[in-house]
Amino acid sequence: MAANPLALIAELTYRCPLHCVYCSNPIQATREKSELTTADWQRVFAEAAKMGVLHVHLTGGEPLGRADLEELIAGAASASLYTNLITSGVGLSQARLATLLEAGLDHIQLSFQDSREEAADWIAGARVHARKTELAHMIRKEKIAFTVNLVVHRQNLDHLEEMLQFIEQLEPDRVEIAHTQYYGWALQNRSTLLPTRAQVEASQKTIAAAQQRLAGRVRLDSVTPDYYARFPKACMGGWGRKLMLIDPFGRVLPCHAAGVLPGIEFESVRERSLEWIWQESSAFQKFRGETWMQEPCRSCAKRAEDFGGCRCQAFLLAGDANATDPVCSLAPERHLVNEIVATVNADLSFQQSAFQQSTLPQTSLQPSAFSQTAYSQTLLPQKVGGRNRFWSYRTNPE
Ligand code: SF4
Ligand code: SF4
Repeated sequence: MAANPLALIAELTYRCPLHCVYCSNPIQATREKSELTTADWQRVFAEAAKMGVLHVHLTGGEPLGRADLEELIAGAASASLYTNLITSGVGLSQARLATLLEAGLDHIQLSFQDSREEAADWIAGARVHARKTELAHMIRKEKIAFTVNLVVHRQNLDHLEEMLQFIEQLEPDRVEIAHTQYYGWALQNRSTLLPTRAQVEASQKTIAAAQQRLAGRVRLDSVTPDYYARFPKACMGGWGRKLMLIDPFGRVLPCHAAGVLPGIEFESVRERSLEWIWQESSAFQKFRGETWMQEPCRSCAKRAEDFGGCRCQAFLLAGDANATDPVCSLAPERHLVNEIVATVNADLSFQQSAFQQSTLPQTSLQPSAFSQTAYSQTLLPQKVGGRNRFWSYRTNPE
């Protein structure tokens, strides 16, 4: 029997008023299926708690887009789950924050795109930075655990120190510097997002200095980006070992990207219990343990630490979900990563002028509104989803 999962990632919706170019949501997300209902989620949270799950991460898309978010938080809290809301903040107000806290919310993770307003709005594809900054101050006044997340990449790493100082004055309990992971929209935009080696090395020094400066006040977490690492991370703590994710339509997956893997049927909480899916479903057993491994993983001493790396990355880069993760320096396919990294480091010509190539229209955002149609029509530099001169903006499901 597999040990119980510790955390549940609940993707409540794929709707989002932002269009971040690094979004990990599936590119092909559709609305053809209906999202799980309030009652569905509440039942699932109770089942998860019974299995031993401790945390639920409420994410999306933008979870504030669910009108029943308060009920969902209350359901999770009454099942004794620790609730973490992962949000862009857009759709939040003082009144709504109060109702979320009243429902039992334990933690908020607010994401930022940059410290500079114009650049942040350019990356998000929406005029949201000023409002998000107001929200961060509003959240800080409440007695709630508060993390600020900053996604870094080639277009913003050169002013990492400035971004850290911006975050510091927001007074979070924790800061997460998250290097872009190349799945979903980020994979599509990899050529403009993957940092150079010089940027990565400089950022490591900046982060180490900031960790010293903030010690005892703010916890600062960051991980070396995959493509510049010698060995892969233990992706999600290993397939089906610690975490499970439920998508907005009820499919249960071991991670947010696993839907790209061909030939795997992911069961739904509409038809099966969470316990059965975790213990019995073929999807969760497929890469659990070590029997699926090929060489060099099969006889490698590190296999119990990293579990052969990420199955999705193996498929997306090498075309084989059973392969050693190509970011591993021992992988037969490591040359694929080396070639990508070499290309990025050789072609620096366009990164300086990137921001100048795109401009946002002058429409100002009403952050309390949550109308995707309005956002899509008025706030994007160019038609969403279409390849503009520089990168593709994340689109909402159609
Ligand atoms: S578009 Fe941005 S804010 Fe929305 S889900 Fe994706 S990464 Fe998060
Ligand atoms: S060969 Fe496999 S187990 Fe060994 S370090 Fe590389 S990915 Fe990990």
